[in-house]
Parts: sequence; structure tokens; C-alpha cells
Amino acid sequence: MNSCADDRGYRNGMGTVREASKTTGFSPQSLNDSLDEDGRSFLTDEDQLHTFDDLTKVNPVTPATVLKCLQARYSAKVFYTHAGCTLVALNPFQPIPYLYSLDVMKEYHCSPQPQESKPHIFIVAEEAYRNVKGQLEPVNQSLVVSGESGAGKTWTSRCLMKYYSTVAASSSVIKSQNTVQRIERRVLDSNPIMEAFGNACTLRNNNSSRFGKYIQLQLDRSHLLVGASVHTYLLEKTRVAFQPAGERNFHIFYQVMKGATTDQRREWKMPNNESFVWLPNAEKILEEDCFEETLEAMGHLGIDSERQREIFRILAGILQLGNVVFSFPSDDSQPCDLEKTSKGYLQSAAELFGVAAEELEACLRVRTLKAGKQSVLKPCSQTECNMRRDCLAKVIYASKDHPGFNLYQKGRLLLFLLHYPPHRLFEWLVTFINNSMCTDTSTWSNFIGVLDVYGFECFQLNNLEQLCINYANEKLQQHFVSHYLKAQQEEYVSEGLEWSFVKYQDNQSCLDLIEGTPMSVFSLLNEESRLNRASDAKMLRVRLEKELSENRNISWDKFSQEPHFTVAHYAGKVNYQLQGMVEKNKDPVPPELINMLQKSNNGLLHQVFAAPEEGNQTTKGPSKVTVVSKFKNSLESLMRILNSTTPHYTRCIKPNQDCKPLTFKKEDVIMQLEACGIVETIHISAAGFPVRIPFESFIQRYGVILKYPKLKSAHFVDWTNENCNVRKDVGKVLSVVLEQDDLLQTTDEKHNSLVHCG
Ligand code: ATP
Ligand code: MG
Repeated sequence: MNSCADDRGYRNGMGTVREASKTTGFSPQSLNDSLDEDGRSFLTDEDQLHTFDDLTKVNPVTPATVLKCLQARYSAKVFYTHAGCTLVALNPFQPIPYLYSLDVMKEYHCSPQPQESKPHIFIVAEEAYRNVKGQLEPVNQSLVVSGESGAGKTWTSRCLMKYYSTVAASSSVIKSQNTVQRIERRVLDSNPIMEAFGNACTLRNNNSSRFGKYIQLQLDRSHLLVGASVHTYLLEKTRVAFQPAGERNFHIFYQVMKGATTDQRREWKMPNNESFVWLPNAEKILEEDCFEETLEAMGHLGIDSERQREIFRILAGILQLGNVVFSFPSDDSQPCDLEKTSKGYLQSAAELFGVAAEELEACLRVRTLKAGKQSVLKPCSQTECNMRRDCLAKVIYASKDHPGFNLYQKGRLLLFLLHYPPHRLFEWLVTFINNSMCTDTSTWSNFIGVLDVYGFECFQLNNLEQLCINYANEKLQQHFVSHYLKAQQEEYVSEGLEWSFVKYQDNQSCLDLIEGTPMSVFSLLNEESRLNRASDAKMLRVRLEKELSENRNISWDKFSQEPHFTVAHYAGKVNYQLQGMVEKNKDPVPPELINMLQKSNNGLLHQVFAAPEEGNQTTKGPSKVTVVSKFKNSLESLMRILNSTTPHYTRCIKPNQDCKPLTFKKEDVIMQLEACGIVETIHISAAGFPVRIPFESFIQRYGVILKYPKLKSAHFVDWTNENCNVRKDVGKVLSVVLEQDDLLQTTDEKHNSLVHCG
């Protein structure tokens, strides 16, 4: 079993703590806590509140005291706090360069006991790194970063990647497409590209990730970074053709629009005064709109200029397509016509996609129905035309999901999945990035994975995208609950430790509601998707109520006119609209569109549509795999990876909903603390044994005590009984639950035991 990665107090020294950096003014040395004999403090001295580095020391642990403590720390510009096995990271919403400097990284990396330094994301990073390095049997590590949208997950993930690119830098170089580069550079360069194509400005976050990502940093036997691979989860591709009010399309479109040279503008048919429907809120100036950074990163990763040109022509074509408008046909039997002004846009889109304009127009306006061996042409209604136009943009930009997620085996992702035929533009980029970062499986021996998925979402209107995002967050919450809160308590009991259970919020019933068998929201949604009924939303509403009303996590507003359902998630209630959900789940692609794109003379489009998969519908018929089925599979695969690694949890907290610098709104923070069960975590960590050392490592480090009778009787462990008992010693407790005689003999069984220390 993997231990929870909080083994504070147990580390092999790696050097000495150097003096705090005088230039930065930040020292990782711990603030001096004043503790009572139990190793905790009462919250009496308000001035000292900010000095609590670990919330387990707060006494009593209540939502109010935890909140007070975090608020005091935030006011003192202390943004990280331990909460037992997790790290709480408060978003400062303003750059704090001194906190992440090279000197600070080195301080944590070289510290013999980083856990006793000031809380920092670098402690988590270093702990994972030492786990890979230090243990007899190195275990792969996962750093799980969670929190709501805008809380700082992506920022934290970047920070972690920077850390490993610095402290585990190797001399490895990677060759691809005539470029030779150090691996660290490539790992860091993958970020601006992925964010340009996968992040967008939303109402909650100017740089919101619209996809999930698990980046695997591969280390060789000397624990140096020799490669990396990234696995993505369900990009919110509807955004390409529909941007909610006040939000924007993916950053890359604005980068191209704002950053293109005069010649490029001419080639890409983007005059300065042009306005594009799918480019709302372009007047907003964001630092994410930096085209140069993306171009530079593409160049570094080996995407040559011809490929880049093809990519940008595709993006420009999508923007042109967005301006194509259809009018109502005068006669129902006639195909819906193009608005006069749209002819030019359609012409430009066709040119940029490298397809014939007549074929593009026909694909959008006329449906081909197969009747036996015969084909019948049927004009599309205005709604159908619009759907086909949007569908074309979406199918070019991204597929339903990345193809490689099911190929996980033996604790390691198989490398050949990276060479699986790429699907669409986004997946092509991910595959390219992977090919340019990944090394041969024989070169690396272990990995540290960093997980950054979209945060929990609750808007006024929520649909399939939010259901999937919130389902992913439920899965992660369950991983945390079952790995830490549940498993830890069960293990105490099974190992005979005295323990009274701490109650926690188990979200199994919510997961049963969403993904369970035989009946769940997903199974009913899939069933309705198969049936192809006209009034699918209403039918689904009826079936959900009939089949699932016994689940306590689902409810309905009886007076609402719109078909909907409400789910009580661990992080709050969310109301989901059913209108359009079935269609989104089917994500159908008209075969005519695929046929047309396969003939494109844009090299990249031609390549991505030549791939034999869901796109190859001309021969196999429309793909029956639904969005939720694919997403469920990919998350299950992710969970398998997480379960095979030692997890480290970081909870990012958004201190205010307006993203204002250094502003702490209690009501906003308390909701997030409650949602992630932080108080329960602290209770279990404080009452429990956060340090768990494999038996053999414990013997190596502490076995010496047995040889010295004085030490034996005076320190840490009471050896006098048959069992070594828990004893408190100046606020520190070391509990050992092993028979004394067995300490010097390692049987196989004992080898796997863990020593619990508090
Ligand atoms: P989403 O789920 O929408 O992707 P997220 O949790 O990934 O949200 P981020 O994009 O990481 O959120 O953070 C939002 C913004 O907060 C960042 O763009 C940055 O401006 C700021 N931010 C986050 N963490 C820090 C930090 N440690 N220091 C300074 N600024 C930060
Ligand atoms: Mg993000």
C-alpha cells in the first residue's frame, strides 16, 4: 500500500540549510510557534494567529478557527499553510516573485528537513522528489492540485514543473525536427502552447483551463529529469463556436488576431477592422494574448514554420466560418440560403481550410441520407445549418477525447500511445508535444505526475460540460476521501491502534447518481442518446425522476418550466439544464464534413482527418461512443494511475470571487474549506499519525535506539512492554506498533508494515 506522503521529521539530510536569502527577504525557516504541552495552541493570542504553520496545531479545530488563522496569515502575506497531509495554498492574486525565486527553490531543495521550514509548495515538491529518491523501493508520485476555478491550480502546476526543471535538471538533450534542446526547456515550453489552445478567459478566471491535464515528469535512475509526457482530459471544445456572455474563445484566436504581421493578416484574411462573431470581448487586454511567446515555444518544440502556417490558417478559417450566417428559406423544400454577406466569409473559410467553396457550402446546407445503396439529398433547416457550421469548427479543433487514455498498464503508461494516430488539432498538438518531450521507456525509471484539472463549476446555466467537470472533481474528492480519510482510519483500526472514527463527508452516493450501474444520470443519458427521440430533454427529465429519485443527491424545482435536474455535489448544489444535453453527448459529426476535410490540401488538416477512428464514418457509420462514456473511461484510467502512486494533495483556495489582489472574503473562503472537508482532514491529521514510515526504513534510521538502554528508556518510544507504545515527548509523539523483538528481524510481512508516528 502506498503511504500518504507526509512523513515529516523523517528525512535523510541532503546538506545544510543556508542562511535565508538576504536579497529576497524570504526565509524558509519556520516561524516560531508557541505550543502547549500537547503540541497545540489555543487561539487566544490573535497577534500570533499568523504563526500557525500547520492547522493541526490550532485548538480547537473548527471552521471558524481555521478561517481566522488563514485570514491572519493571508493578511501577513503568508500564503501557504499545512493542513495535516494537505497543503492549503491561498491565491495572492498578485505576483510574489521573491517567493518563487531560484534561491528559494535551492533553500528547500538543500534543506535537511524541508518539512520544518515555512510551508510552501516547494515542500510538497521536494517531499515527492525525495520519496522517489529515498525509499528502498521508489514509488511513483502524484501531486494532486485541486480547487475551484481561479484558485491557482495551473499556476501551482507551473510552479511545480519549474521546480523539477531546476532541481532535477539533467544534461539530457532531446532531438526532434532538426532541433536539439534540453528537456527542461521543452517541459516548460509545453505550457504556453497548451494554455494558448486550451485556456480561455471566463467570468471566473482570465486564464481558465478548459481541459484537464496530467503531466508525467520522467526521472532516470539518478533521479534526473529525462523526459515528460502529458495526458489531457476532455477539452471544452464547444467554446470554439459558442462563448458564454462575458467570456471569450480560446486564447490562441486572440493571439493570432492581435499578433499577426501585416503579411500574415493578408494571408489569413484578417484585416484590422474585421470583427469576428466567435471572437467576443477582443477589446479586453490580457497578458495571455502573447502570440510571440506561443510562437517561440512552438519553435523550441520543433513545430516548423510550415506546420505553424497550416495551424494558423486553420484557426483563421474557423473565425471566418463563425461569420457565416444562414437565412430562413422562402420555401420549406429549398435548402436554407446563405446571407448575402456570408458568401465572402464562406469563400475565405474554404480557402483557408484548403477545400472547395462549393463543397463546403453544400456540406453545410444539404444532408445526404442513405437509403440502401441510394443517396437522397435533403435540404437542412436553418437550425441544422447552424449546427453543421458549429460542428465543423468543433470537429477541426478537438475530438471527443484523447485517444490514448485506455492503454495504461503495469503502473506505467505505454509509450506507444503517444504515437497513436492523432485526432484533431488539439490532440495533434498534444501528441507533437509528447513526441518531443518523451524519452524511451528504458531511459526513465520513475515518474512524478502533476494533476491539474478544471475546478468545480456552477453557473446560472449548466450543461454537459459542467456535469463532466464536476464529475471529475467528485472523482478526485473521492480519491482523497478514500485514500486519506477512509483508508487511514481503517488502517489504524486494523493495526490495533486506539482510534475513534472521525466523521467525514463521503461522496459515494453522488458518484453512484452520476456514473453508477445499472441506473444513473450517465446511463440514462446514454440510453436517450441511442434512442434518437425528438423530445429528448423532456423524456430524460421524466426518466431521471422515475429511476433516480431515491438518491438523496438529486432534486428538481417543481415549478421550473425548463427540463432540468439539480445535483448536490460535495462542493455545492448545481442545477443542470437538460436542453441540448443529449445532442452534446452524442456529439454527432455529419459524414459529409469528414469526407470533405479528408480531401483538404492543408497538410495538417489532411493528416488529422486521415486517421481511422470516429471520423471514418463514411464506411463504419456514425460513432456510437458518447462523450460521457469516453470521459468516464479516461477518468477511470486516471484513477488507476493515481492509485498506483503516492499522492500529495494541495488545495488551492480563491480568497475572493473578484480576483482582487490580497483580498480575503471570509464567506468565499469558508465555502471552499467546507466543500473540500478541510476541517475533517485536520481532525484526522491532528488526532492521527501523519508520519508513516516503512518498517525497513524505520529500522535503518531508529533501530540504533535499541542498543542504548538510556536512549531506549528516555526517548520517543516506550519499549518496556511487549509492544512499543505511544508516548508523548515534549510535544512530539512517536508511536510504534511493532513487537520489540521483531524490530531487528525483518520478515516479509514486517517488511511491508508501516510505522505510524504522530
Ligand atoms: P481554472 O480551474 O479556471 O483553470 P485555476 O485554479 O487553474 O483555475 P489559475 O489560472 O492557476 O487558476 O490562477 C488564476 C490566477 O490567479 C492566475 O492567472 C494568477 O494571476 C493568479 N495566481 C494564482 N496563484 C498565484 C500565486 N501563487 N501567486 C500569484 N498569483 C497567482
Ligand atoms: Mg487552470
